[in-house]
Amino acid sequence: MTHKKDSELVHLGRRKAWTGGAVNPPVYHASTILFDTVEELRNAYKAPHETMAYGRRGTPTTFALAEALAKLEGGAGAVIYPSGLAAVTTAILSFVAAGDHMLMIDTVYEPTRTFCDQMLSKFGVEVEYFDPLIGGDIAALIRDNTSVVFVESPGSVTMEVADVPAIVKAAHDAGSLVLMDNTWATPLYFEALGHGVDVSIHALTKYVVGHSDAMLGAAIANDRAITRLRAHSGHIGQCAGPDDIYLGLRGLRTLSVRLARHQQSALEIAAWLKERDEVARVLHPALPDCPGHELWKRDFHGASGLFSIILKHDDKDAETAFLEGMTHFKMGFSWGGFESLVMAYRGIKNCRTATRWHAEGTVIRLHVGLEDVDDLKADLDAAFARYRAAL
Ligand SMILES: *Cc1c(COP(=O)(O)O)cnc(C)c1O
Repeated sequence: MTHKKDSELVHLGRRKAWTGGAVNPPVYHASTILFDTVEELRNAYKAPHETMAYGRRGTPTTFALAEALAKLEGGAGAVIYPSGLAAVTTAILSFVAAGDHMLMIDTVYEPTRTFCDQMLSKFGVEVEYFDPLIGGDIAALIRDNTSVVFVESPGSVTMEVADVPAIVKAAHDAGSLVLMDNTWATPLYFEALGHGVDVSIHALTKYVVGHSDAMLGAAIANDRAITRLRAHSGHIGQCAGPDDIYLGLRGLRTLSVRLARHQQSALEIAAWLKERDEVARVLHPALPDCPGHELWKRDFHGASGLFSIILKHDDKDAETAFLEGMTHFKMGFSWGGFESLVMAYRGIKNCRTATRWHAEGTVIRLHVGLEDVDDLKADLDAAFARYRAAL
């Protein structure tokens, strides 16, 4: 993390025209925007991403967050969506058409996979999955009609780190666009656009909102992709509510300090877990057991608080004993908030088709929150005691 980004996090998006002189922009609840002259109305529609035209196109609350995110990742602009999944699906729909072929990473977030299999197939878009460790060999899979290559790195739950620059090079050589789900690293720990990605997608619900109290998404695009992304997102009618956007802006200001703490605590717990007898492998991009660890070292500025472990056994009762009775690691979907979370994954085999998943035992995913690290270790230590007793 550079000092420059810390300063940017404080200042970005705070144009006086949008804040009115307060530190933060107001939360605009608006549908109709009123114009005094015909010229004023026409001008608003020339740039509805930074001038109020109609509520659905955004207000200064929206513009401030979009501009902050776009600048943070070096993009030409950003579009805000009502959830991370809406950002993923609308970005994809903006760049594919019937008859196209899309290459999708095999370790993608499961609902993205479901969208591809259940929805894109209906629209005549062929989706082919690829090995997350494929690197530049992806060139062999790219066809004349491959419009989009979609990556997510690290992989969902299993944490494989992809060679994004090599995939980008192969895709661009063939004239395809690269979309990336960059939620895990946030704009601070992986510069997707800097590595050549055309559209960087974030579930802001996670670390940017950071407090488990709002659903929000964003897609940040380069010059090549922004016009189409904005237009097509508008055609679909995507817009997020101003209160949630405000929570995204508020969270963004403290993202760096929160992430640093998530990173530090997660690394300490990952190292501690590596020494446990019950654990076969720790899948944390900053540790050598994680596939693609070298690529993480080369390309990322840091690691967030989400990683997985593989237990030595595959025992349902012991797994239940592990999960139930936690003090700090609560069971629930999502992550990126201030609180620690735990989740067990049994169905990984069923959501991989280009690769095979054959791990030793149960996969447990942990989100390390902002609690005291010793408290978190004690919580896990007690969980392992329950686990052993149930084996
Ligand atoms: C959570 C998540 C999403 C979806 O975000 P929502 O805001 O829950 O819709 C997309 N991608 C990744 C990697 C996620 O973790």
